[in-house]
Amino acid sequence: MVREETVFGPIFSRRLGSSLGINLLPEKGKICNFDCIYCECGWNRDGRNDTVLPTAAKVRGDLERMLVKLGAEGTPVDSITFSGDGEPTLNPEFPQIIDDTLRLRDRYYPQAKVSVLSNATRVHIPEVFAALQRVDNPIMKIDAPTNELIEKINQPVPGYDVARVVEALKQFNGNFVLQTCMLRSPDFDSLRPEVIEGMLQIVRILKPREWMVYTIDRPTPMQGLQKFSPQEMKALVQPIIDEGYRVQIKGAVEDI
Ligand code: SF4
Repeated sequence: MVREETVFGPIFSRRLGSSLGINLLPEKGKICNFDCIYCECGWNRDGRNDTVLPTAAKVRGDLERMLVKLGAEGTPVDSITFSGDGEPTLNPEFPQIIDDTLRLRDRYYPQAKVSVLSNATRVHIPEVFAALQRVDNPIMKIDAPTNELIEKINQPVPGYDVARVVEALKQFNGNFVLQTCMLRSPDFDSLRPEVIEGMLQIVRILKPREWMVYTIDRPTPMQGLQKFSPQEMKALVQPIIDEGYRVQIKGAVEDI
């Protein structure tokens, strides 16, 4: 599913309430430095016709118009979430856009929480990290503990190094949400000890304020992927729960 707009929704989700989405990638394409086998936006190669990234001015204008309209209608907005057709921090104006969004949130819906869903590949860049620190919920993805396993599920661009990502995430001092997708493919299985044991270790190192584990819920570009049940996921993360960490287990991906 590729978003057609820069600001979309609001969509109602049980977890986030009435949630407005912001897509910082092309309106009719996908740009990401991962090519996850489960990406609901499809493969990168299928979304290359539109490469126009929205500018900070466009995002600001679209968001303000939407917030004014929703306010006039009396529609609640509980959260504003950066998700969309790719990795939001790849937009070169990401820090500026975060500042604009926080300003508009404070003005029109001060109670709304701002979240960013990111694959964490650019947290080592100081301006990106500083922007992520300013939002209410930086939600950072790590699906597997080694580069070899990540190659099988996320297919990153060359140069990705999970150890470097873990090192960069330490800067949050635990004040972030770690997100992990669990699934089974012909050559990747979140259940295998080399995956789950490594992930438990990463949680212990990073001590995120919450670990959000979820599974596939929508059509995926790779065929034949299998989802996990909430019970299966709970059994996998039980050691971390027993150690006192907060874990959110979702049987299905939320709307945004
Ligand atoms: S990081 Fe997100 S947008 Fe990028 S390929 Fe993976 S699921 Fe899709």
